[in-house]
Amino acid sequence: MTADLLLGVDVGGTGAKYVVADLAGAVRAEGDVPTDPASPETTLGRVARATGPVLDGGRLHGVGLACAGIVNPLTGWLGRSPNLPGWEDSNLFAAVDAVFGNVRRALANDVNGALYGEFRAGAGRGCADLVMIALGTGVGGGVLLGGELLVGTHFGAGEIGHMVMDPHGPVCTCGGRGCLEAYAGSVGLLRAAREAAAGDAGPGLRDLVAARGVALTTRDLARLAVAGDEDAAGIFTLAGRRLGQAVGNLINVLDPDRILIGGGVAQAGDLIFEPCRRTARAIVLAAEAKDTPILPAELGPLAAAVGAALLVTGEASGE
Ligand SMILES: [Zn+2]
Repeated sequence: MTADLLLGVDVGGTGAKYVVADLAGAVRAEGDVPTDPASPETTLGRVARATGPVLDGGRLHGVGLACAGIVNPLTGWLGRSPNLPGWEDSNLFAAVDAVFGNVRRALANDVNGALYGEFRAGAGRGCADLVMIALGTGVGGGVLLGGELLVGTHFGAGEIGHMVMDPHGPVCTCGGRGCLEAYAGSVGLLRAAREAAAGDAGPGLRDLVAARGVALTTRDLARLAVAGDEDAAGIFTLAGRRLGQAVGNLINVLDPDRILIGGGVAQAGDLIFEPCRRTARAIVLAAEAKDTPILPAELGPLAAAVGAALLVTGEASGE
């Protein structure tokens, strides 16, 4: 008996992570290939070669792609994409067709892909209304309402990372000031740590920042905080409060079932979740919504690839 299989690819600037999954999202195989910065077809050709032996055992039901940037999930068009400038303004469904032939296809931006994966096979299972915030180098966001991803009139919905928390706050990568990303992305957290080390922080944080230099990570900071360093813990508390400010506002606007927090910075766990929950609770108006669960995402680094694969089964793409 041959099984129907899905292929999901999360395309980053340097590498493309892929999964081969069944129709329920259970991963049969995973891996990654280098991204060709100039050619979606070449990149997908590498994925096709890498997954050939697995796909030979089943029927390829469809291919889902996740990319950072502005995407039109209906037509397959990729617009502005900071990680993939050489792919901008191209049609990725055409690339899928060229490499895989006549299969169903889906496209989402990377955070929406991850959110959809969590909805179907992770921490948001069974919830039709979800918000996801991904705390990585920057901060990404996605919104799912009634089981459908919210893409917006100009395909720009879900930019939770650029909600302005303080118009006089630190400069953000987008050119604005005081965006959530400037506080809760790893770049923002590490900047806050270096500023504290240059200011009035104690020897624990000062020594860590000096020893690690440009290699300093949020994981280093979390380890120091867990070991009892109050300055390091304070950096996460401030980021968690800003996150909670955003989350509380989002709960007031959307009243979702759950808020999911993913990405590498979320590995800091309670250091960031606890102040986030406390701040959000104080902002939420409806008594019944004050305990809206704010939970870690479950699928980890494969979330966007799994979600992109599952999107193939959830949308009327590739007639
Ligand atoms: Zn910004």
